[in-house]
Amino acid sequence: MGAGLTIALMQARSIGEKQRSTPVLGEFEVVVLGGGPAGIAAAATAARAGRSTILVERYGFLGGAGTAAGLSTFCGLHANVAGEHRRVVHGIATEILERLERMNALSAPHLSFGNRIQAQAYDISAYKIAADELLIGSKVKILFHALAAGAVMRSAREIEALLVESKSGRRAIVGNLFIDCSGDGDLAAWAGAPFAVGDGAGNMLYPTTMFRINGVDPEKAGRAWEAIPRLMEEAEKQGRRFPRKGAIVRPQKNPIEWRANLTQVRNPDGSAVSGIDVEQLSWGEVEGRRQCWDTFRFIREVTPGFERAYIVEIAPQIGIRETRRIEGEYLLSEADILGCADFADAIGVNGWPVEQHSAGRVDLRWPAAGSRGYNQMPYRMIVPKGVDNLFVAGRCASMTHDGQSSARVSGPCFVMGQAAGFAADLAMRAGTAPREIDVGSLQRRLETGGAWLGRENAGVLAK
Ligand SMILES: Cc1cc2nc3c(=O)[nH]c(=O)nc-3n(C[C@H](O)[C@H](O)[C@H](O)COP(=O)(O)OP(=O)(O)OC[C@H]3O[C@@H](n4cnc5c(N)ncnc54)[C@H](O)[C@@H]3O)c2cc1C
Repeated sequence: MGAGLTIALMQARSIGEKQRSTPVLGEFEVVVLGGGPAGIAAAATAARAGRSTILVERYGFLGGAGTAAGLSTFCGLHANVAGEHRRVVHGIATEILERLERMNALSAPHLSFGNRIQAQAYDISAYKIAADELLIGSKVKILFHALAAGAVMRSAREIEALLVESKSGRRAIVGNLFIDCSGDGDLAAWAGAPFAVGDGAGNMLYPTTMFRINGVDPEKAGRAWEAIPRLMEEAEKQGRRFPRKGAIVRPQKNPIEWRANLTQVRNPDGSAVSGIDVEQLSWGEVEGRRQCWDTFRFIREVTPGFERAYIVEIAPQIGIRETRRIEGEYLLSEADILGCADFADAIGVNGWPVEQHSAGRVDLRWPAAGSRGYNQMPYRMIVPKGVDNLFVAGRCASMTHDGQSSARVSGPCFVMGQAAGFAADLAMRAGTAPREIDVGSLQRRLETGGAWLGRENAGVLAK
């Protein structure tokens, strides 16, 4: 019997569990799953609107991929508006930036991808604390170390409770409205919302294990972020192999520390490691760390200023870019991104290009040069089909594979989260399902809350 068949048989086997009664940890008006940018914005907004709100997070800190996967850079807060770089995402994102600034943990925006767009680096530990303080100050109950593991339905289209596994055992969290910010659409999938994975041919964006390097001599290193990709290309011509093209190795606020985004984590058959397959994740963690070490050795050997450098941290988890995308009332598409689309139900804007991590490379696609450089995001993309008391915000919201390759980054995730938080309050006030709320009221609440929807420029596609 071949090994493949043995595994298939093992997977086919299942065992019954005794039916059990699960203690209720609490009852909340709003239950948010996931503490990334979408979850932070959603929970803070719902709680400030006066709703009893809990945020459930499997790790012991907030920030999502921004901390757990070691990103250390906010993308998608800025747009290239006909050649002028502008910050276009505000609201809760601004509050996070201000807190980081007060902690002296935020770099000035830097130009990325051939100087075409701005991004902004931050210190990961400070982000964790800024997010803690924001949520505690907003009166959110935070439940760390709680892995969501299922849903109990009140009816075919309504969730009653989120089930979590924790060191205290299994618990149920009962809610009126739920906001799935898990990145993977876990809750939406358990509740029966329709979803897609990958590009229709089974290809998901490739993951990356991030790491940070310390002990760099900044004077000697100079603009090594330009030299390193070049040195890697030259070495490849001599037969050296690296995980992918388009390596990003750049200094943090304190320039003795640099972040490295250069691995690409594949299964043995070359496909992208899936963030919703525990065995692939286990393989991917080992393979990602192997790639980090192998490439770091090369960088240290060839880059002036890196002679005494060392890896100060490999991110706690492999960085997953895409898994489930929940199907909602509208699917944001690549045509919307590249065409700088406007929507009557806009909840904010996104200026990040389509950044697609395909096998061995990163492909970028941009709105036309000289264009407005950002698209509005419609409310309908956070309202899933099939479930009536649920929002889905963040990288698992309703987008096509290509649309998600753009609007998955932090800026648009903050936008979606803040909109979901306000919309949850409006739905509860009106006693309606999310898809029936008065979107005009939502837009006014968002603008009063500091968000920028780009409404004054709707229809204006150039500067
Ligand atoms: C390698 C890599 C590099 C990237 N680089 C950048 C970058 O430089 N800048 C940028 O802006 N974006 C970058 N991105 C995109 C980034 O993933 C998104 O910006 C963003 O983090 C997605 O936000 P989110 O809130 O939707 O989900 P996430 O940030 O993924 O947060 C989801 C949260 O939910 C928690 N969670 C998930 N499932 C469960 C569960 N079942 N139970 C309990 N908790 C759960 C997770 O632990 C996590 O905290 C990168 C992504 C990757 C993978």
